[in-house]
Amino acid sequence: MLKFILPMVQDLDLLKQIQEWDKEIYAIQDMMEALPAQLESARDEVEGQRERFEKCQEDLKNFQLKQKEKEMELQTKEENVRKYESQLLQVKTNKEYGSLQAEIKSLKADNSILEERIIELIDHVEILERKTREEKKELEIKEEALEQKTREVEEQTRSMSAKIESLARQKNEKIKEVNQEIAALYEQVVRNKRGVALVQVQGETCPACQMQLRPQMLNELKLKEKIVICENCSRLLYE
Ligand SMILES: [Zn+2]
Repeated sequence: MLKFILPMVQDLDLLKQIQEWDKEIYAIQDMMEALPAQLESARDEVEGQRERFEKCQEDLKNFQLKQKEKEMELQTKEENVRKYESQLLQVKTNKEYGSLQAEIKSLKADNSILEERIIELIDHVEILERKTREEKKELEIKEEALEQKTREVEEQTRSMSAKIESLARQKNEKIKEVNQEIAALYEQVVRNKRGVALVQVQGETCPACQMQLRPQMLNELKLKEKIVICENCSRLLYE
């Protein structure tokens, strides 16, 4: 690559200021790009909670249905008991009487098991109702947290965009004062290297890419009269 020596050292002071603004612009851009990821975990939490709530609601419906079915079954069986009991009054033979009584006894035994089962179901439905209410409340809390976070991210995005715009305005104004060729090179490197185009050399290597600098370049840097271009990464170097 062609060694490029920038002739005007007064450009260095301008570029140092511009580089500070560019670093800030890119840092803010990086933060802005990371913002949507902050919403992901809050969104996942809402989705997970919605699933838990819907599962609970589904369970509740199933058990309410079971309870209803058992209650209807009991009602039918109780009607049968009453029907057999009224038939008792009309039977003519002891044998018929005995078999009806046995039937009634067996029905009543079934019914008391059924009643126990219904009580269990009622208890379980109550537990599920309470749990569903809790899961719903938790869902509302998580949805609210997501909305809050979304508002925060929107607000941060707005203020970061405004900050970038204002820095870019300052920069674009200032860079007009820089030699056009240097400015064009600086801009190209700043874009390619995401924000860092001008670096201060403290040893014998380019601090950005660690390339060993040739003695002539080191001499030019020492003279502090010129800006030197790294032959490897094209960054603008000064000492
Ligand atoms: Zn370099």
